[in-house]
Amino acid sequence: MLITLKDAATRIKSANKILITAHVQPDGDAIGSTLAAMQILRSIGKSAQVFIDDTVRKNLHALPHFEEIRRPIDGETFDADLLLILDTSPDRIGNVRKLTDAPILNVDHHVTNKGEDVELYVEPSAAATCEIVYKLARELDADITPDIATCLYTGLATDTGFFQFSNTRAATLAIASELITCGVSPHFISEQLEKKSLAEVCGLRDALNSLKIFCDGKVAGMFLDLASMQKLNSTGGDSTEGFIDLIRVIDTVDVAFLISEKAPNFCRVSMRSKGVDVSKIAAKLGGGGHIRAAGCTLKTTLADAEKILVDAISSAI
Ligand code: 5GP
Ligand code: MN
Repeated sequence: MLITLKDAATRIKSANKILITAHVQPDGDAIGSTLAAMQILRSIGKSAQVFIDDTVRKNLHALPHFEEIRRPIDGETFDADLLLILDTSPDRIGNVRKLTDAPILNVDHHVTNKGEDVELYVEPSAAATCEIVYKLARELDADITPDIATCLYTGLATDTGFFQFSNTRAATLAIASELITCGVSPHFISEQLEKKSLAEVCGLRDALNSLKIFCDGKVAGMFLDLASMQKLNSTGGDSTEGFIDLIRVIDTVDVAFLISEKAPNFCRVSMRSKGVDVSKIAAKLGGGGHIRAAGCTLKTTLADAEKILVDAISSAI
């Protein structure tokens, strides 16, 4: 059921023990929005705890209160009267779903989130969920501390590719400006986020070596097989984030994709586009996302995943 931002604020005010989560394979917006929400809710007297059912990329570990994020363990339950799900629909939160039966409040900016069965405030024009959490903080009359501002700015910066993607609007920059007034240090966040481990740069080399071009140059794809993914993940906390941006820039390319074989018959797909609505392609394959950035999981071999994806993209362009 779709609700307004005011309704979402009212729902939060009436709760006391709030469990906060976001999607698996968390990005800067997922971690930034949940950590910001945790601090905002605590500041208005609520008990709040973030759970994320995945490892988090190392360069997000410097965010304030990161060390308080918990990962659910088997059979664990958590006493809560509201489950606040940010930056995704409830189907991508892993085992956090099993922690509580509390009612769900879902706040998101993904156009593919339709809010079936739960109360959802969705704002597809928001560049990041952090933009909405900022507005929620204002609605709740919460003070935006430098730590909260740092978390929110991180989500804005990562989901807009540092204010370069087409989702960057005047409102996005206005909120970024407010956050700087609240104490954010943009260069500190940028330096933190651009860091890559040696394993990540070697993974990038493997990915670029696998580059293939399809559809008369309109589509570019990269492939990381199980061996490359295992090397990349050997130290934990390494990710392929940003790899796809290096082939999205090819001048003839409209759709870029990366397929990562995370386990046998388990391939993760990332897509980026300059025009085509890749959220529709992803949704057809069981995933979702935004018009210009979307993803899905294909439970097949890498070779079959390539065929399925290239077929779906060529019929869309
Ligand atoms: P990325 O390529 O960075 O993993 O994801 C791009 C966008 O698509 C993100 O906003 C992400 O949340 C969304 N997305 C990626 N994979 C999935 C998926 O399997 N299901 C849904 N619903 N959204 C996805
Ligand atoms: Mn997001």
